[in-house]
Amino acid sequence: MTERLYYHDSYLIEFRARVVAVSPDAVSADRQRVYLDRTAFYPTSGGQPFDIGELGGVKVLEVVDEGERIAHLMADALPGTEVDGRIDLDRRFDHMQQHTGQHLLSAVLVELFDAPTVSFHLGAEICTIDVAATLEPEQLREAERRANEIVFENRPVTISFEDSSGDLGLRKPTEREGSVRIVSIESLDRSACGGTHVRATGEIGPILIRKLDRIRGNLRIEFLCGGRSIARARADFDALSKIARVFSAPLDETPALVDGQRDKLRESERMRRRLSAELAQASGRALYGETIPGPDGVRRVLRHLEASLSEESRAEAQSFTVAGPAIFLAVAATPPAVLLAVSKDSGVNCGEVLKRLLGPAGGRGGGNATLAQGSLPSQTSLEELAESLSRELNFPA
Ligand SMILES: [Zn+2]
Repeated sequence: MTERLYYHDSYLIEFRARVVAVSPDAVSADRQRVYLDRTAFYPTSGGQPFDIGELGGVKVLEVVDEGERIAHLMADALPGTEVDGRIDLDRRFDHMQQHTGQHLLSAVLVELFDAPTVSFHLGAEICTIDVAATLEPEQLREAERRANEIVFENRPVTISFEDSSGDLGLRKPTEREGSVRIVSIESLDRSACGGTHVRATGEIGPILIRKLDRIRGNLRIEFLCGGRSIARARADFDALSKIARVFSAPLDETPALVDGQRDKLRESERMRRRLSAELAQASGRALYGETIPGPDGVRRVLRHLEASLSEESRAEAQSFTVAGPAIFLAVAATPPAVLLAVSKDSGVNCGEVLKRLLGPAGGRGGGNATLAQGSLPSQTSLEELAESLSRELNFPA
């Protein structure tokens, strides 16, 4: 059975221990599972991830709770049977801040809104708790304010071991039998927990509530504590400052400015579409005027487009074919496509002609008697189709 040094002192980052067993790791052959008589390394458990660091100068990759024993997954063999352990303090202290912050936030949510926490996740970037309650953003702001108030009061956070037979007065009942490790925040919370915590609420640092999500009937609350809050606030400020610089405006005015810009952009887009349509119609009319009819009295035009077919192509085609006998054929390069439009008195059925010629070319599409459109699988098939359409519709060679 491994003695868990972190149970009594979360700030212990250097220790000496004896190696009691070594076994190959089942998952990865180049890793070893090392067991010590005592360890300050925290194994993944209760929503809190494992510590990293070194044992005898060798990197600890992962720490696993096997119940009675704790396994240290090592990158290499240890130099001896007595080793010095050293824990990565930055990672450990970050976990202590987030974890203690979670106790505090969960307790405040019960205190204010009777909203119990059902699960906790401490991720590499963010932390979340799932709460079995429906809370409004306004209430979460109130919880954030209250939680930070208790941080400022710097209340002691203490560890005790108590027998489960008595009434422990815990926020959430425990199923553990015998001696139970209890983490207390003075005059606020008592929780059964095996994790690592700071010694006073002031060390949690600022608590910042962020995103809210509805997950399977619960409310998932994203939050950050201490160093993470500062890093996040810094990143938020930098991002907002960039936006504010674009507007040459104070930070607090940017939401209204962004709103205004979005409305203007929508209006501009509406205007652009209208003008494009008008331009395309005018272009179709002009084209009709300057095209000399063939011997059969039908005006024919063949358009080669570099880009794709668009709403404007269709408007130009319809405008060209509305005034008298006319045939409009557009061939677009990217993606390969054709557009065929005819006047009612042209003697041609667009949909029928295109459908008949598209099939053998491997293309797809269709339309009605006066307007049809098709897409082709390649440039070569497009050129072949354009040629057969020109022949079929008596375009001059
Ligand atoms: Zn805890």
